[in-house]
Amino acid sequence: MDTPLPLNDLPALERQIARELDILAYPTPDWVAPVTAPDGTVALDCAVIGAGQYGLTIAAGLRRERVARIGVFDGADAGREGPWMTFARMAMLRTPKTLTGPDLGLPSLSFRAWWEAQHGPDGWEAMFRIPRTAWMEYLNWYRRALDLPVRNGWRLVSLEPTADDQLLRLGFETQEGPRFLFARTCVLATGAVGSGVFSIPEPIVRALPSDRLHHANDPFDPAILAGKRVGILGAGASAFDIATSALRAGALSADLCFRRDVLPTTNPRRWMENAGYLAHYVDLPDARKWATMHRLLTIGQGPPKPTFDAAAATPGFSMHAGTPWETVRWTGSDIEVTGGGRTFHFDSVVVATGMRVDLRQRPEMAAVADQAALWSDRYVPATGEENDALGRFPYLDRLGAFRERAAGSAPWLSRVLTVTRGATLSLGPVAASNSGMKYIAPRLIEGVKRRLFLDQERQTWDDLLHRDHAELPAEAMP
Ligand SMILES: Cc1cc2nc3c(=O)[nH]c(=O)nc-3n(C[C@H](O)[C@H](O)[C@H](O)COP(=O)(O)OP(=O)(O)OC[C@H]3O[C@@H](n4cnc5c(N)ncnc54)[C@H](O)[C@@H]3O)c2cc1C
Repeated sequence: MDTPLPLNDLPALERQIARELDILAYPTPDWVAPVTAPDGTVALDCAVIGAGQYGLTIAAGLRRERVARIGVFDGADAGREGPWMTFARMAMLRTPKTLTGPDLGLPSLSFRAWWEAQHGPDGWEAMFRIPRTAWMEYLNWYRRALDLPVRNGWRLVSLEPTADDQLLRLGFETQEGPRFLFARTCVLATGAVGSGVFSIPEPIVRALPSDRLHHANDPFDPAILAGKRVGILGAGASAFDIATSALRAGALSADLCFRRDVLPTTNPRRWMENAGYLAHYVDLPDARKWATMHRLLTIGQGPPKPTFDAAAATPGFSMHAGTPWETVRWTGSDIEVTGGGRTFHFDSVVVATGMRVDLRQRPEMAAVADQAALWSDRYVPATGEENDALGRFPYLDRLGAFRERAAGSAPWLSRVLTVTRGATLSLGPVAASNSGMKYIAPRLIEGVKRRLFLDQERQTWDDLLHRDHAELPAEAMP
């Protein structure tokens, strides 16, 4: 932006976006041929599932690439997509404030432009990291400013090919009852849990009354922990966040326990945020991708410094390394936990051990899970790098599409793309986070376009041969 906009002038910013979109509109002709579905409707060119940051960005990018018939569907209510207003509890994003991605190269669509339009350049300088709720407000604005076709309250529950493999039949749960749609391609941008589950170790589930046990990624109000001694299992950022928010909400104590002897203090993911790594991890050989993810899982990921500092500075917080929960028992009045030679008594516990990639846990992925190749189908790890958890990750192509387990068995899988946690082994360790959006979202957009273009390659060839391509009038010829 050359001329600073007046403060609190989002309409001016929106006018600027419209102008920049117009300047960059080339090439403008529509090119995707309509396809009629078995029910007589025109199939969507692309159904984007998930209206979080990735779903919105991919929808915006497809539209700029003249893929017109798109729909974005999210099971959550408007304004509550993604983790930001539900179970994320940190004050600010963990990623650097300079991150880009949703803008797809348009400065006026960036978080910074949106922030500066309201708070000025000084407000930008004064900010350390992006406030969590401001990120959600930005995404809400982005959706509105671009008028993206989002339907909230639509939860995808089934996805299967039509008999000729040319379309996908999508089943949704909505407040009005079940709904079905046909689409030529589908992008699953369903977030952290989109390719698996937030799991709690089974012995803990069996041992405790359900109202005394929470997962850190359940959207509960920390106020329910007021007056309680809270035990937390996990060493990652969410474990520290719940400790801080529980104590601030009035918990008596928060004891954070983890298995490792020391808290992980290094985080190579920050170093990976460079234009080489983010763009070209996908080009590494399988052995290097596997070794990279194996290494990251082995060294773990502790909390960012502000998250650690916030917990450590909150009265009532204690941290216990080398303390796996060996036994968990409901005494009848409280919870007894033993581990690392110690015994604790808690009133409630929160498990913050992350999520497990496992497509079979997701109803909407059932047909995909039956046919899609996983890493365990395609790669044998070196001795010492065996890892069942990584073996369950889908083996995606470089544009994020699923691949068949057996050649020729399920060509329709090339119509289904994903950018969930399960995509990270194929596309990059930070592919499903803010940090990777700048490079990964365009890849998914290309993946959708590739499928649509190849679908109509016969028609395109006929057009080349038989359309009227006259440039000069015939009479101009000597
Ligand atoms: C607590 C927490 C904090 C995080 N903090 C950061 C951070 O600071 N920086 C960072 O880079 N990353 C962070 N992450 C990672 C974060 O998940 C991603 O950066 C971001 O949310 C990914 O965006 P997304 O669009 O892929 O998914 P999401 O934002 O999770 O959006 C996915 C959407 O899909 C919808 N959905 C899921 N299943 C269905 C279905 N079957 N049908 C219809 N809709 C469905 C959901 O309702 C949701 O709105 C954090 C994650 C968590 C859990």
